[in-house]
Amino acid sequence: MKLHFSLLAVAAWLAAAPALAKLNVVTTTQDPAAITRAVGGDRVNVKALCKGLQDPHFLDAKPTFMVDLNRADLFEVIGLDLEVGYAPALIAGAHNEKIGVGQPGYLDLSQAITPLEVVPIADRGQGDIHPNGNPHYWLDPENGRLMARAIAARLSQLDPDGKKTYEANLAAFEKSLTAKEAEWAAKMAPLAGKSIITYHRSWTYFISRYKLQVADFVEPKPGIPPVPAHTLDLMKLVQSKGIKLILMEGFYDRRFPELIASKTQAKLVVVPNSVGGVEQAKTYFDLFDVIIDAISAAARS
Ligand SMILES: [Zn+2]
Repeated sequence: MKLHFSLLAVAAWLAAAPALAKLNVVTTTQDPAAITRAVGGDRVNVKALCKGLQDPHFLDAKPTFMVDLNRADLFEVIGLDLEVGYAPALIAGAHNEKIGVGQPGYLDLSQAITPLEVVPIADRGQGDIHPNGNPHYWLDPENGRLMARAIAARLSQLDPDGKKTYEANLAAFEKSLTAKEAEWAAKMAPLAGKSIITYHRSWTYFISRYKLQVADFVEPKPGIPPVPAHTLDLMKLVQSKGIKLILMEGFYDRRFPELIASKTQAKLVVVPNSVGGVEQAKTYFDLFDVIIDAISAAARS
């Protein structure tokens, strides 16, 4: 009688248990996480290690991140050496064969895009250079499309039962992206051909998409903090070229860009470069809305 009762309990528990465990996806930054949520829907649990307002070049390889990765079915990285300072240590500390480099559970999204600024061997060693190309490619929405396709393909490989769902979600994502791209292109059109200054070399893809020009950077070399002499040169450049915009991320020091803006006609625009960098940037599409609205508002004023 007692046995009969416990068998019933087990049967009831089995019936109530979810039919399918979700795929656990861990990403280094917020942007692949946002795209994975859009494509994976309710078949995935997604966690990004880097917060949206953190500098993605530097992250502490915390033990809790290794625990997250130990349980992961898929680890997505931006690649092109963006995470070179911490991703290898995290993978080593995770003790999870599934997410090792080269395994189906490891997805380097830079493989899906065409990198810009690939540095010839002779020119390497100048500041914090990413020799295989600039890693800030998610700031071109067309690269977001390529990332989404690569993510959908990998989720389908790891979870074949979900293939139809991933394909449908991808189609919906691409349709919305196409519509948003028309909106963003219209807002950015008046700025085509204009020269701007950016803090870091992180806007290359964005600038190439919207046909802006970068006259120079606040950093004297990539990853090297601003210095007075270069800042003085920038002020002269801003004056002589009539530059109206300095674009920077919120996690960099504002003092030098503020100084340039206070002494010239240029306006300083501080924007997130990742989902979650500000409250309103909840999705990949929101991120471009926030960036492009801030730029066009500054250009109009
Ligand atoms: Zn960088």
